[in-house]
Amino acid sequence: MLKDNINNVEKKILESCLKSGRNRAEIRLIAVSKTHTIEEIEEAAGSGATDFGENKAQELNAKFPKISKPVYWHFIGHLQTNKVKYIIEPAEFIHSVDSIKLAEEIDKRAKSINKVQKVLLEINTSDEETKFGLTSEKDILDVADYCRNCGNIDLKGLMTMAPYTDDEKIIRSCFVKLRSIKDSMNKKDFNLNELSMGMTNDFEIAIEEGATMIRVGTAIFGERDYSKSWKVI
Ligand SMILES: *Cc1c(COP(=O)(O)O)cnc(C)c1O
Repeated sequence: MLKDNINNVEKKILESCLKSGRNRAEIRLIAVSKTHTIEEIEEAAGSGATDFGENKAQELNAKFPKISKPVYWHFIGHLQTNKVKYIIEPAEFIHSVDSIKLAEEIDKRAKSINKVQKVLLEINTSDEETKFGLTSEKDILDVADYCRNCGNIDLKGLMTMAPYTDDEKIIRSCFVKLRSIKDSMNKKDFNLNELSMGMTNDFEIAIEEGATMIRVGTAIFGERDYSKSWKVI
């Protein structure tokens, strides 16, 4: 059943690539497995999913040793400094760096296990007060500059979330904004290649606007049931 869902998402990814003249190989599909069980993750991994996303540090920490297949883990949620220790070992990418203080802790923890941590800066492209992420150009450049000087951080790109709306214009404008921030930073000698943008409702638009990572939960695993705690798995 998850296999059908993954195949459907794949089909849509291919259609969006065709429409926008992009190559499927440029896009990493991250199956967002938050709230879902070890069994479901194993099933998805057995059906071709290679990358998984979690948004709670302890949940990722509890899950990663239990998965038998070699998979890549992405930390995509808001990250408190005191929880970096839970995810520094499994995280292939941390998508949500939004302060110097957090970058400093990631650099320190990565160094302690001899790792260079790949990170993305989370950008608030919609000016919604409820969303996390950097907003002003100065803050973005300050954190990016800090990361650039960290020996154990490799800054690879940017991440954003569009607002939950049916208005395609609003969604698209967020993704265009993220791409243009990346382009202007690369003119300042950053070397950013990754754009993490697009979820179940908007990944096709994100692909058209240059996403290199899409984070898809519901379309793969179905609706989330937050009443079932992951602790019972
Ligand atoms: C939950 C989540 C997703 C996936 O959302 P769906 O709408 O279920 O695809 C993507 N990105 C982040 C940051 C999330 O927290």
